[in-house]
Amino acid sequence: MLELPESYTIANQIQKHLSGKIISHIKILQTPHKFAFFNNEAGRYGEALEGQSITGAVFRGGMVEINTEDSLIVFYDGAYPRYCEDRTKFPKKHQFAIYFDDETGIFVSIQMYGGITIFPKGECTNDYYISSSTKPNPLTDGFTFDYFMSLYPAGGKKLSAKAFLATQQRIPGLGNGVLQDILWEAGIDPRYPMQDAPEEAFRSLYDAVNQVIKAMAEQGGRDTERDLFGQKGRYITQLSKNSLNQPCTRCGYELHKTNYMGGTIYFCEHCQKR
Ligand SMILES: [Zn+2]
Repeated sequence: MLELPESYTIANQIQKHLSGKIISHIKILQTPHKFAFFNNEAGRYGEALEGQSITGAVFRGGMVEINTEDSLIVFYDGAYPRYCEDRTKFPKKHQFAIYFDDETGIFVSIQMYGGITIFPKGECTNDYYISSSTKPNPLTDGFTFDYFMSLYPAGGKKLSAKAFLATQQRIPGLGNGVLQDILWEAGIDPRYPMQDAPEEAFRSLYDAVNQVIKAMAEQGGRDTERDLFGQKGRYITQLSKNSLNQPCTRCGYELHKTNYMGGTIYFCEHCQKR
C-alpha cells in the first residue's frame, strides 16, 4: 500500500522526471478489477486531460497527486503508478494508464485495492483527500509533540497503540506497513493500551514516528515496496514479511506475527512492551 515514504518518493520522482510531458490520452480499466475505485466523473474529466501537460506532483499523506494545467490525478492505497519509457514494453494489463505524446506512459496495476481520482483543480470535495491534504504529518510542518498529543481522543478513550497511530486518518499516510517499524523502534507492542501509557511512552512514540518515517522517505521508501521505476526502496524494514522468521536485530529473539485489527502485525516479545 502507498504510505507516506512511498507517496513522498513517487511524487518527487514524477515531479523531477515527468514534468512537462504532454498527455495524449488516458485509459481507464483496460483490465477490469473489482477493487479499483474511480470517482464518477473520472471518465469525463479524463478526456479533458488530453493535450495537457504535467506541471508537477506532490504527496498528500499517503496519496500521490499529479498536477496538470487544469486538473489533478490522485493515486491512493494500492494504486501504484509505474513509468514505462519503452513502447514495446508497455504492460498489457492495467487499471489505469496515462499515455504521453513522446511514446512513454504511466501505468497503474491495482494491488489488492486502490483508488484513482481525477478532478478539475479546486473542485475536489472528497473527505479523504481533504484530510490527507490539510493535516500535518512528520514530513510537513506543524507535526509537533503538542499536535501529536492532541490527536488522542479526549476522555481517556481506550485505544491500542495501533488504533491510535494507524486508524481514523489521524496521521495521513501512516498505515499498517510503516506502523510496524515505528512501534519496534519505540519498544511498544501494537496491542499496548495507550490509555494507561505514561507521557514517556507518548514521547517515545512521537520520536519513533518522526525518525522512522523520515528515514524511510530519505531512503526512497521501504524494501517491501517499489517506486515509479519499479525499484525497491532502500530502507530495510525491521518488521515485515521480509523479516519474519529472522531474529530481531536488537535482541536476537525470534520475531512473531499475528492478525490484529484487520491486518498482520509483527512484533518482538522482548523488545516491545505489551
Ligand atoms: Zn527484540
